[in-house]
Amino acid sequence: MSSLTPLPHLPPNSNFPNSNSNRRKNTIFHLQNCRNLDQIAPIHTNIIKNGQEHDHFIAFELLRACSRFDAIDYAIKVFRRTRQPNVYVYTALIDALVAAGSHHRAITSYVQMIENSVYPDNFVINSVLKACGLELDLGIGKQIHCHGLKLGLCSNRQVKLKLMELYGKCAKFDEMQKLFDEMPERDVVAMTVMISSYLEHRLVERACVAFDLVEVKDAVCWTTMIDGLVRNEEMSKALECFRRMQREGVRANEVTAVCMLSACAHLGALELGKWVHSYIKKCYIKVNHFVASALITMYSRCGSIEEAESVFLEAKEKEVSTYNSMIAGFALNGKTMEAIEMFQTMVNEGIRPTSITFVGVLNACSHGGFVDVGLKIFESMENDYGLEPRVEHYGCLIDLLGRAGRVHEAYELIQETRVAPDHIMLGSLLSSCKAHRAFELGEKVVKTLLAHEFSESCDAGTYILVSNFYSSWGKWDEALLARAELRKKGVEKEPGSSSIEVGGEIHEFLLGDSSHPRREEIYAKMEEMDQKLRGEGYHPRIDGVLQDVGDREKARALAIHSERLALCYGLISSEEGSSLRIVKNLRVCDDCHAMIKLVSKVSGRKIVMRDRNRFHHFENGRCSCGDYW
Ligand code: ZN
Ligand code: ZN
Repeated sequence: MSSLTPLPHLPPNSNFPNSNSNRRKNTIFHLQNCRNLDQIAPIHTNIIKNGQEHDHFIAFELLRACSRFDAIDYAIKVFRRTRQPNVYVYTALIDALVAAGSHHRAITSYVQMIENSVYPDNFVINSVLKACGLELDLGIGKQIHCHGLKLGLCSNRQVKLKLMELYGKCAKFDEMQKLFDEMPERDVVAMTVMISSYLEHRLVERACVAFDLVEVKDAVCWTTMIDGLVRNEEMSKALECFRRMQREGVRANEVTAVCMLSACAHLGALELGKWVHSYIKKCYIKVNHFVASALITMYSRCGSIEEAESVFLEAKEKEVSTYNSMIAGFALNGKTMEAIEMFQTMVNEGIRPTSITFVGVLNACSHGGFVDVGLKIFESMENDYGLEPRVEHYGCLIDLLGRAGRVHEAYELIQETRVAPDHIMLGSLLSSCKAHRAFELGEKVVKTLLAHEFSESCDAGTYILVSNFYSSWGKWDEALLARAELRKKGVEKEPGSSSIEVGGEIHEFLLGDSSHPRREEIYAKMEEMDQKLRGEGYHPRIDGVLQDVGDREKARALAIHSERLALCYGLISSEEGSSLRIVKNLRVCDDCHAMIKLVSKVSGRKIVMRDRNRFHHFENGRCSCGDYW
């Protein structure tokens, strides 16, 4: 909503007699101060009654007001009723269309404006170039560039920056560089546009080179770099960049804080996250609802749900996103009741839940096994809030029913849904069939899953799931077939990796990793644990393993899952009795889960582990997930 381009002071409009000027000022004042869409309609009625409909000033303000409240259809109607719209009215329309995501329509409106012989200015060119950038429409963008050059509008700095952005988005880096070279002053804003373009195309090295060339970097430039690094999953580089920013004495802003927090959340780096939080306090960075949500997400993704809650309670601005973050946090940490209560509180306080809210609360119900509550909430989504369930909501529901063993109901639901099921939804049902040993139904699901329309979107995880499904059924041939299919398709299996934060430093381990400087000690610890656990009656579970190979080999392959390496490193490098926090990128396997439970018992430590889907809080031989994950 705030993305509208700043507009010039409009020239006095001589079409209207002075006697009207007060009434007109009044109308404009009211339009600018509208607080919601409902307030616009009566003003609009007055406008029509007073014959102000074709006043371009008023049409302009009316369009912007509509855009502020996402009422794009209303805006289009207003525009259509305006007689001979001038360039300002067109600009307001194009801005509104861009803000509403109708980039293509924004471009057509511009073309229409030219066809109607309305002379463009910098502002309208700026707006339409933005649309071209978002639409990645290089062809029309170039035409506008040429057109602008003829009209002498391209020397304008804002227009130049927008053109650079457009070429950057379309990966035309030479054109972008040429525009940059033509600029009279090499300002940091233009450099930032280039850096951001490189990062968008994952050209991290190139971005770093450009970044180092900027002599005086402002907070926006630093933040662009940090944000881009986070998006490219270069988390440690992002952290390093943030530290450099501190050393150079540039004050971070709210956006920087949000980027840093999301890096910490991704890494599960609680100590760093806490440090960023104290930085926010120390530097009086405003905890607006974006920052509050980011803090809540960081704490809950680092398994520290109490701290997430206290941020929530302290937050002054609570928007729907704040509630959504808290609900998702509860869901992730297995706090089903709290998630449902938070949902109730939110509704009681008159905050309208969104689609995202329902994903969070349905997830919580599913992890907690609250089937009936979940089903009720799902129904209320459409009945009470008029939100049409999307594939992710049906996914939650399938998961909810499947986990509870109601796999046949789940299957029927898939047949009936209005939305086409995706491979995630089918995959979750297949997992449930495997867990509840509903093999015949599972096989039907496999057939759908591997049918042509899905096989395109199937990732390595799907094939592994199919293979695991068959091996748990004892059908080794089919299991091997799924593995072969995986190889044939050349789908990359995402390598398993786990990280652990010790003393504010992140240590990452891959499957069977032996690159860590303390590997000898790590493997020795693993051996020691193995002996101890066998004494506790632990023997590796093998039914979840893929191939039909000898049991000894299976046990060996299991023994080096990355989470075990991270765990053993944690055991040797941290104080006796302190908690360990591990983050794994994939789902934790049955065997590692059983093993970590026992480790928590014999070592007397709390072990918090985040895997792809959820948290496991291991303590004294038990896990918070109740062995259901
Ligand atoms: Zn494992
Ligand atoms: Zn668990």
